Amino acid sequence: MEMYIDPHIHLVSRTTDDYEAMRKAGIVATIEPAFWLGQPRTEVGSFKDYFSTLVGWERFRASQFGIVHYCTMGLNSKEANNVPLAEQVMELLPLYAGKEGVVAIGEIGYDDQTEAEDRFYRLQLELAKEVDLPVLIHTPHRDKKKGTTRSMDVADEHGMDPGWVVVDHNNEETVEEVLDRGYWAAFTIYPHTKMGSERMVEIVKQYGPERIIVNSAADWGISDPLAVPKTANLMRKLGIPEEDIRMTTYQNALTVFGLSGQMDESDWLNAAPIDQTKKLGGNSVLRGGQVPRVEGPADRVEN
Ligand SMILES: [Zn+2]
Repeated sequence: MEMYIDPHIHLVSRTTDDYEAMRKAGIVATIEPAFWLGQPRTEVGSFKDYFSTLVGWERFRASQFGIVHYCTMGLNSKEANNVPLAEQVMELLPLYAGKEGVVAIGEIGYDDQTEAEDRFYRLQLELAKEVDLPVLIHTPHRDKKKGTTRSMDVADEHGMDPGWVVVDHNNEETVEEVLDRGYWAAFTIYPHTKMGSERMVEIVKQYGPERIIVNSAADWGISDPLAVPKTANLMRKLGIPEEDIRMTTYQNALTVFGLSGQMDESDWLNAAPIDQTKKLGGNSVLRGGQVPRVEGPADRVEN
């Protein structure tokens, strides 16, 4: 069975059904970028607990469904505009950036391209250099072309190695410049939008698989946690070589986020079997009377 990585998915907002479907579709590892929650946070403690969830409970919850969970740490661009709070979040970040399973600083960058966003984006590029982690850049949905160019200009200005930086949410207008400048180009496949799986296949046909990464960015909005395997299957159907599919839906994400030293193929190839009798802090994914799934060696999904 094929193995996939979804390197951008906000799992705290997804259900256990999603986890089961993802694992069944071949997703073995996920990366959850720190982001906003729809509801703006008003206290630094809310960030602290959210960051703790990413490295704690959610990591455990994923393991209960046979998926290895990693995350990125950062102050998102929207909430960077609450400057007094953003300053407090910046003080928390170095501690969380050093936790197990943190594979990048992100997602950071621009939303409305304000002065505050620019300031905290730059500070976090400096943090990434200090802690020796790759960077995940969120490019703005409005004024995308300009915002994408500016994101890379500023990263260059701070001396970032483009080989350590993933520029996310690309489209046909941005991909060429991102690749030409040596950055990794990630694509988010949203259902019912122009950046659907069909367009993704065309991009891989045109630009090849080098430094191109597919993700779902599934969250609490209308999105699809199976976007990566679905896109891979469409590529297969439309004649993209198997090696190119593997690179864009598995290997490229592993290569760049593996630079963190926190993500290795052996994490899922040698993972402990699923054991839903396990608890974290006294909590389990089971509800009254449910029979835990406990895998024996013979039940392991062969990949
Ligand atoms: Zn996101």
